Amino acid sequence: MSDMKKLAQLMGELEEQLVVCMRCGMCQAVCPLFAVTGKESDVARGKLALLDGLLNKMFEDPDGVYERLNKCLLCGSCATNCPSGVKVLEIFMKARIILTGFMGLSPAKKLILRGMLSHPATFDRLFEWGSRFQGLFTKSESDILGTSCSRIASPLLKERHFLPLAPVPFHRIVPSMNTPSGSSGIKVAFFTGCLIDKIYPNIAQAALDIFSFHGIGVFIPEGQGCCGIPAISSGDAESFERLLLYNIEKYSSADFDYLVTACATCTSTIKKIWPLMVNAGSSDALKKEVEKISEKTLDINQFLVSKIGVKSQNEEEDSKNKDDAIEVTYHDPCHLKKSLGVSAEPRMLIKANNGYSFREMAEADWCCGMGGSFNLQHYEISAKIGERKRKNIKASGCRVIATGCPACMMQISDMLSKSKDRIAVKHPIEIYAESLKKK
Ligand code: SF4
Ligand code: SF4
Repeated sequence: MSDMKKLAQLMGELEEQLVVCMRCGMCQAVCPLFAVTGKESDVARGKLALLDGLLNKMFEDPDGVYERLNKCLLCGSCATNCPSGVKVLEIFMKARIILTGFMGLSPAKKLILRGMLSHPATFDRLFEWGSRFQGLFTKSESDILGTSCSRIASPLLKERHFLPLAPVPFHRIVPSMNTPSGSSGIKVAFFTGCLIDKIYPNIAQAALDIFSFHGIGVFIPEGQGCCGIPAISSGDAESFERLLLYNIEKYSSADFDYLVTACATCTSTIKKIWPLMVNAGSSDALKKEVEKISEKTLDINQFLVSKIGVKSQNEEEDSKNKDDAIEVTYHDPCHLKKSLGVSAEPRMLIKANNGYSFREMAEADWCCGMGGSFNLQHYEISAKIGERKRKNIKASGCRVIATGCPACMMQISDMLSKSKDRIAVKHPIEIYAESLKKK
C-alpha cells in the first residue's frame, strides 16, 4: 500500500473513533499531566478536540499540533476511566503516524530510530561501546540505588540521576538458549527487552533462576530486537514494522507455550500494539503469526502465578518473620495495570518471600511520570509527576519499592536518589528469586 493511501486510511479510522468522545471531561481527574499543568490542552479531551479536523489543522500549524499531541505520557489512565470507551491511545498513536507521515521525522529521531534502533546488532554495539566509556562522563550518586549523574553540564542528562549501563549486557552473558521443558512440562520464550538487556541484566538472570527452579524450558533467540514502542510512539511506522518483522522471524520458528517478558512495556506492546498496528497491507500469514504470538504473551508475574501456581505465603508464616522482615511496597506500572489488568500477581510474588513484609502505599497506580520519550522531551514535568510518587513511597515507610517495569524502576530511582532517600528499588521477580535461594 502506498504511503498516501496508508495515511488516508488512518485518517478515516481516526475520524470514526473520534466521534465516540462525548466531551464529558472525566479524563481530567485521572490525567497525571493535567494534575501538574492544569491545562485543558494536555488532557485527553483537549487533544481529541484538537484532532477533530486534523487535516486542516495539519496544514495551518503542523508544529503546534505535533507539540500538543506529543505532550502525553501514553499512560492510558484516561482510556481506563473513560465511560464511553474511547480508544485514546490507539487514536493518539495513529494521529502521530499521520503527522509524522506529513512532516517527516526530525533528523535526531531519524538517526536514533532508523539508524540505530531498527538495526539491533548496531544498537547493541553502540551501547557496549557506551558502557566502556560512560565512567569518563558520569559519577556515582547512590550506593543503595546504584545511580549516577553527569560530571559535566549536559542538555540531555540534565540533573537526572540514572542507572548506568551494565558492564556486560544480558545478551553477552546468555547469547541464546534452548532448553527442553522440565518437570513443569512448560516451555517459555523469553523476550528480554532493551532496558533489562542493557541496564538490568540481573532481572533477566533472576527470571532464568526462577525458570530453572520450576523446571521450565526456555527459548531465547540470538540477537533480539527492541519491541518497537519507541518507534510507534514517535509516529515512525516504518521502524516499528521493521522491528516487528525482525522479532517475529526470531520467535516464529521455535516451539513454546508462552512468550514471557519481565518488562511491562514490552508485554503491553507485544500483546496489544503489535496486532493493532501490524500494517493493514501485510500478508495474512504475518497477521496470523502476530496474533499467535500476541495471544501467547504473558507478563512474567502473571505467568508464574497463573500457570506455575506460585502463591503468597500464608499469614502464619508472614507473622513468624515479622520482626526482621524487610518492609516493601509496590508501584503499579501503567502498562501492567491499566493496559493488561495485571496488579494482584506481582503483589503475590512479593508475598511469596516471607523475608519481606508487604505494605500498600497511597496512589499505587498513579503514573510515575516516565512515559518513555516523554521523560526525555519534558523532563521537568516528568520529574514533578515523579515527585508525587516519591512522596507516597516515602510516606509508606518501606525500605524497598518494587515495580514490574524497568522504565518505572529508572524513574523512581531518579526521584529517590535526588532526594537522598535510602530506599531500594527492585523488580518483584528479584524478590521472589531471593526466596528460592533459601530453599
Ligand atoms: S475521552 Fe472519554 S472521559 Fe475524556 S472527555 Fe472523551 S468521553 Fe469523556
Ligand atoms: S494518556 Fe495519560 S498523560 Fe496522556 S492524556 Fe491520557 S491520562 Fe493524560
